[in-house]
Amino acid sequence: MSENINILDFLNFEIVFTGMIHCGFGPSHLRNFLMECNLPPMSETTIQKIQKKIGQTIIDCAVQSCKEARQEEIDLSPEKVQVSFDAGWQKRGSGFNYNSNTGHASLIGKKTGKVLAVNIRSKVCKICDTFTVQHPNETVPYHDCSRNWSGSSTAMEVDMALNLLGEMEKEGCHVDIFHADNDSSTSGMLKSEFPNTVKMDDQNHVKKGFTKQLYELGKRYKELKQAEVIPYIQRCFVYAIQSNAGNSTKIHEDLDRIVPHIFGDHNKCRTAQWCTYNENPSSFRYKSLPGGRPLQSEDLKKELEDLVSKYKNRAENLSQLGSTQANESFNNLVATKAPKSRYSFFIWLKKFILNQRNIKIIKMKKSHNKKLCYKHLILKNDKLYYLLFYNL
Ligand SMILES: [Zn+2]
Ligand SMILES: [Zn+2]
Repeated sequence: MSENINILDFLNFEIVFTGMIHCGFGPSHLRNFLMECNLPPMSETTIQKIQKKIGQTIIDCAVQSCKEARQEEIDLSPEKVQVSFDAGWQKRGSGFNYNSNTGHASLIGKKTGKVLAVNIRSKVCKICDTFTVQHPNETVPYHDCSRNWSGSSTAMEVDMALNLLGEMEKEGCHVDIFHADNDSSTSGMLKSEFPNTVKMDDQNHVKKGFTKQLYELGKRYKELKQAEVIPYIQRCFVYAIQSNAGNSTKIHEDLDRIVPHIFGDHNKCRTAQWCTYNENPSSFRYKSLPGGRPLQSEDLKKELEDLVSKYKNRAENLSQLGSTQANESFNNLVATKAPKSRYSFFIWLKKFILNQRNIKIIKMKKSHNKKLCYKHLILKNDKLYYLLFYNL
């Protein structure tokens, strides 16, 4: 081979570009990476050119991918179409503190495991915000505004759920069974807006809900504060539900023996394989309770009985739990591919989609918050892009 070969002739920039997105890189990371490999770095202009060439194709593919996944799901579900739903947040919420400015949600088909539809809610649009500050008396010029939500962050989830189901209906895919968390407001709204769709609880959220209530009780009862006690009760609870899937009578029976068992009464444990008390009562010790002894507090016992009886009443529902694990995995994928600190690709992608006038506005604002301006503009499309990876 001649020494005069130009490496640029061999470097496929389009592949490098898609590789950059796939790795969650930004242009500066890409530049460093290429330089370290002793390859010519791509300039911003080149990246823009490539993006112009393939950006819209990526979006079209993602939309098409959802459409095909919907058809596939219908074909594989001759009786009932089942989907799982969960929302993710740009900023993590904890307990009751949900105040993220943006949220996204997905519907995933139970048979295909593919994303059938996605939705985004954003409380902010930096173009609107910046323009209003700088030109208080003027109307914000037309732009692809990312603000589509003005309510509370928690209400985003319900709204997205209803919207996604509506979209599915419009596309000719009626959802018969909807697996989601146990949020009562979602259930209520769903019942009134989509009476023909049955809402089912999801395993993970049932477990989380139960544990959360245990920790609430733990604030008042010392016995629960000791390490291993709450995880032990939680394990008993999960076992009762998971090992009896499809059998509500057995779930009821297993839940019924949890509280007496941890308080030392093993009469109901006779048919339970996990309790070894009846094999040899004199040598029995709890592996996971402090000192191997049962809990004592009568008040706590009463509270735990009340808590468990709430679940006993829902045994029928608990016997048919679905899973939103796929949605959680999708949310994680989005977070990995589009980390908050790197969203450069989408900036360019969005720039391409925006009309020229808007681009001019953005260019005018080459201020310190330029990145923020773009950040919220691109949200809609990054989620679409990651659908591609998910559905492959
Ligand atoms: Zn706006
Ligand atoms: Zn027992």
